[in-house]
Amino acid sequence: MRAAVLHETGQDKLEVLDDVEAVGFGPGKVKIRVRATGLCHSDLSAMSGVLPQPAPFVPGHEGAGEVTDVGDGVTGISRGDRVLVCWLPACGACPSCKRGQTHLCLAGLMNAGTPNFKRPGGDVFGFAGTGTFAEEVVVDAGCAVPIPDDLPYEVAALIGCGVTTGLGAAINTARVEAGSSVAVIGCGGVGISAIQGARVQGAAQIVAVDPVASRREAALRFGATEAVAPDELADAKQRVTAGEGFDYVFEVVGRAATARTAYETTRRGGTLCVVGAGAMDDLFQVNMFELFFDEKRILPSMYGGGDVLRSYERAVALWRAGRIDLEGLITHRVRLDGINDALDQMRTGEALRTCIEI
Ligand SMILES: [Zn+2]
Ligand SMILES: [Zn+2]
Repeated sequence: MRAAVLHETGQDKLEVLDDVEAVGFGPGKVKIRVRATGLCHSDLSAMSGVLPQPAPFVPGHEGAGEVTDVGDGVTGISRGDRVLVCWLPACGACPSCKRGQTHLCLAGLMNAGTPNFKRPGGDVFGFAGTGTFAEEVVVDAGCAVPIPDDLPYEVAALIGCGVTTGLGAAINTARVEAGSSVAVIGCGGVGISAIQGARVQGAAQIVAVDPVASRREAALRFGATEAVAPDELADAKQRVTAGEGFDYVFEVVGRAATARTAYETTRRGGTLCVVGAGAMDDLFQVNMFELFFDEKRILPSMYGGGDVLRSYERAVALWRAGRIDLEGLITHRVRLDGINDALDQMRTGEALRTCIEI
C-alpha cells in the first residue's frame, strides 16, 4: 500500500512509496483504512528532529478512517466502524489514568519504539506510534475511537489532535472565565481552536497574535475580537488591558522566546498557558523574584489537558450545535501525492489545516 515516508531526520521532503506494509496486526489491535488526515505542526517538528522520533518513519497522527480488521480480544469495535485515530490512548490502569488525567498516560507512547510498517528495505516507524500518512495503519484498539455517522472523516481527523489540543487548553487547562481578556500567540489550527475555546467559555476580549496576515484574518472569523502582528502586541496589551496584562495568554508556538513574551503579556495573577510543543534544548527562563512576586500561573497543556475521550465528545457536541466551526479550519486539500505541497503550506503559514485525502 501507499504511504509517505521520511527517510532520515532533518530531511524536509517526504517520499510517497507504494511498497509499504502496515505490520503488527494481532490480538488487541485494529486495522484502519485511513480516509482523511490532517497535517499538524508536530509532524514537521518530528521531521526536523525537534520532537524525538526514530526514522525512517511515516508522519501523521491526526487521522480518521474505517476499521477493516479487528484482532482477537478487542471489544466495542467492529469491522466497518468509522473511527478517529487517538495517538495517545489511555491504558486505564496507570496512576495518571486512575486520576482521570488520561492525557498523561505513557502506555501508548511506549509503542513508539516498535515499527508500525515495513518495506522490502527494512522497518519503518509510525509517528507517535500511528503514522496516518498511509492508506492503512495498525494500531492498538484504544487508538481507534468510534465516531458518529454525521461527523465527516476530515473533521474527525482534526479532533484527533489539533482541535482537542486547542479547545482543551482553554476549557480544561486554563478554564477561561466569562468576561475575561485573552491573548493567543500563534494562530494555526491549534491556536484558532484555542480562540474558539475561549469564545465558548465567554471571554470578553480575544486578541489573536500572528505574523501571517491570512491567519490574522482567519482568527477574526473564528471569534478573535482583534488580531495583531507580534510587534503590535505590546500596544494591544496597553489598549485592551490598560497595560496590566491579559487574564490569560496562550503560547501556541512552542518556543522559549514566545513563551517569555507571553509571560510578560500576562497580568499579575493571570494565567500563561503553554500549548506549543518545543525542543529539549530551548530553555524558558523566569527569575525567582518575578515568579514569586507576580504570582502568574504557568500552566502547560498537553493534548487538551483533560480526559481525552471526554474532550472528543465535547468537540463533537459543540460542532454539532454550531458553537464551533471545524470545517472552516480546513483551508487546503491535497491527495497523498501532494503531501509535500501540504508541508510547504504549513511552513509558510498559509494553511490553517491542510486535509490530506487518502
Ligand atoms: Zn494509563
Ligand atoms: Zn498534533
